[in-house]
Amino acid sequence: MSSSTSSQAKSNALESIKNYRVSELQTLLDVANVTRQGHKRDLLQRCKLVITSNFTSQMANKIQQINNARKRSSRSHRVSSSSSSSSRNRPIVLPKTPPIEVLPQANHIQFINLPFFEKMRNIECSNMPVDWHAFSPMRFTLNETDIDLIRKNIARVFLRIAPTTVHERHNDVLPPYLFVQCNNQPVINNNISKQVGSQAHSISFPTDITDKIILKANTSNTLNYLWLQSLAAVSFKNLPKSYTLSVQLVHCVSIDTLFDLIIKREPYTNKTDNDNDNDSDIEIEDLGLMTTRHRVSLLCPITQSLIVVPAKSSYCSHLTCFDLKAFLLMNERRLQWTCPLCKKSASYESLRIDERLKTILSNVPPNCSTVEVDSSTDCQYILDSIKQEKIDVTDTIHLQKNNEDASIENSSNNNK
Ligand SMILES: [Zn+2]
Repeated sequence: MSSSTSSQAKSNALESIKNYRVSELQTLLDVANVTRQGHKRDLLQRCKLVITSNFTSQMANKIQQINNARKRSSRSHRVSSSSSSSSRNRPIVLPKTPPIEVLPQANHIQFINLPFFEKMRNIECSNMPVDWHAFSPMRFTLNETDIDLIRKNIARVFLRIAPTTVHERHNDVLPPYLFVQCNNQPVINNNISKQVGSQAHSISFPTDITDKIILKANTSNTLNYLWLQSLAAVSFKNLPKSYTLSVQLVHCVSIDTLFDLIIKREPYTNKTDNDNDNDSDIEIEDLGLMTTRHRVSLLCPITQSLIVVPAKSSYCSHLTCFDLKAFLLMNERRLQWTCPLCKKSASYESLRIDERLKTILSNVPPNCSTVEVDSSTDCQYILDSIKQEKIDVTDTIHLQKNNEDASIENSSNNNK
């Protein structure tokens, strides 16, 4: 310290201590190693003496600390006094805290309907937030009626999973890195995350856990579930905050029941013939007659045999159909039903019988697999060299289903 700066520091210090309280003067005397006994006037006098005679850097620092503390406390006093005065004419505004995310209740999560497995009741459900590390086991019990229905093959137990949001009916999904055990037997072991697409989870048919259930009424079944990797640590695009697990009792609906319900629906009405969206039909322009004829196959794209009951989705704009029973069987354990011809959505609700093709098929000659139709009700049968037969798809479809699955999986992958 130079003499001028030191004298400046001393005079500042002497100025500061004038307003000091007893406790502050005592602290300063402690630093100077001088007695702190006496009245305030004595303490102040002693401090002045120490500063003028032996002003150390420790004392200068202590004065700085006391001054800073006084500034802070006077500032907070001003804030509190101003807010208390203004609170008389303004409503009290609570300090802003980040909103706490409240998840919807697990039993409010809606799943899409499964035509072959009609929901009877929710047995148990639970939310699975992605930033949680541990979940306590989910326990559920079945009653006498449930067990009876399961034993008779009328009902099954499905584990359904969907994002914990309530604004829509969800497709079932397979979350990344999920491990689930039912009564200590693994039912889901997914140690991967979907790489393609906007979601880390993939759409997948619900898990049938019927075989893992204890077939005894009022006995506790246990579902353990955990993340194989911490999802909070992994950055995913559009990963939901939570998934919901739902154990449901579902009623097995027979293919004949679904088939009969579709037969009873209002049949498909053909759209105008100049609809140029007939993507799978061959169009033949007959300029002389100014009519457009379409060549329509009578073979089912699923079975490659003659269609028995021609159907398509109300969204389809082509004349060609598929066999209704073959289509239903192919989709028994699928979530998203699509038309094998145009790949548009062909949900169970959208399926219709094609009356025109049904009439054509009822009169089809034995060696015919194609017809030519125009806007009139007439049709021209085109004869093949080999004889076509109608076969009952129920026996053969199971063999073909696997091949179909593979080809549809491939084509859907190519579309991405
Ligand atoms: Zn279609």
